Amino acid sequence: MNLHESPCLRWQLARRPAGAIDAGDLALIEYRPGPLAPDHVRVRNIYLSLDPTQRIWMSDREQYLPPIEVGQAMRGTTLGVVVESRSDRLQPGDLVIAGLAGWETLTDAPAKAVSRVRRTPGVPLTASMSVLGNTGLTAWAGMVRVGQVKSGDTVVVSAAAGAVGSIAGQIAKRHGARVVGIAGGEAKCRWLTEELGFDAAIDYRNEDVGQALDRHCPDGIDLDFENVGGAIMNAVFERMNNFGRMVLCGLISSYEKDGPAAGPTDFSRILMRRLRVEGFIVIDHLSHAKEAMAELAPWVQSGQLRWKDHVVPGLENAVDAMQLLFSGRNEGKLIVGISPEPTADEAGA
Ligand code: NDP
Repeated sequence: MNLHESPCLRWQLARRPAGAIDAGDLALIEYRPGPLAPDHVRVRNIYLSLDPTQRIWMSDREQYLPPIEVGQAMRGTTLGVVVESRSDRLQPGDLVIAGLAGWETLTDAPAKAVSRVRRTPGVPLTASMSVLGNTGLTAWAGMVRVGQVKSGDTVVVSAAAGAVGSIAGQIAKRHGARVVGIAGGEAKCRWLTEELGFDAAIDYRNEDVGQALDRHCPDGIDLDFENVGGAIMNAVFERMNNFGRMVLCGLISSYEKDGPAAGPTDFSRILMRRLRVEGFIVIDHLSHAKEAMAELAPWVQSGQLRWKDHVVPGLENAVDAMQLLFSGRNEGKLIVGISPEPTADEAGA
């Protein structure tokens, strides 16, 4: 393939979605890259990370990064291989994470905005986008740095069978906590208790979450790792112990809705129980990535920490794949496969 001449593909925002993302909200366009600028690298994207937060970026609600404007390329983290370099830092064949590149086949990026990826023996490359990438860092930063999990805590994790939640719960277990997960469906709940070592799991689609929390957390809850918000978060809030910590990682139940996110409103409980409620965004914890990976990588390599990567092949399927996150049909970290992993020749190193 001549990467200069053949058209590349890119998703761009065609209009702001109302509710669930509709096929017409994004448009797949062709583009042709021009000459590579100095100090830039050209990356053939292999994998694209799909994240619930990308639904927020499509909206113009208040958020932590500028919203994507209509007509702009969809933003997303990619893992790819350098095919051309005008920087001394990187060579063709290097595997890289191309920061907030785009939902596209080929990315030109400043060399300083991409980071090299080293394969971990025995671990699939996709793990660099999940357990050994931002997903793992999110789970670790939320549980360890923000939540300050400690032995003896009773911890509740929502969206517990998802990419971040499943890792967050296992980190808490390894720090000596008792962990209860909330997830949709019997199969996901069984995975949490039978394979990941959660102490209990609540199927919010088929059980009353409040009653189940009373059963599984008879002494109350010390730490909430919140991924969902709304009624699920309320049920946890009502059972928080004095000096409890509520770590707001995500509020996915509100992402497809306009207006303020539903959640606890009784601030007197925060006062009376001396709760700490703290939101966090992984980008603020990037400087701790080394520390996080030093803890997670040995657990991954020894099989003590389990995770799932859910790869949907084909950039053209990215919009349909996004829906999996909001219907709960993803099984682990959702990734789009854009192009094949490099051959030994192409990898160069
Ligand atoms: P997941 O793999 O957890 O997928 C999302 C899951 O959320 C679905 O599988 C589904 O699981 C659950 N879900 C979706 N809609 C609802 C709903 N209305 N009510 C209850 N559960 C729902 O995705 P991620 O691990 O990527 O993200 C999980 C959370 O972490 C999100 O809130 C995300 O925004 C947040 N996040 C935050 C970051 C940060 O920096 N703060 C960074 C990365 C992620 P089920 O089948 O159980 O319903």
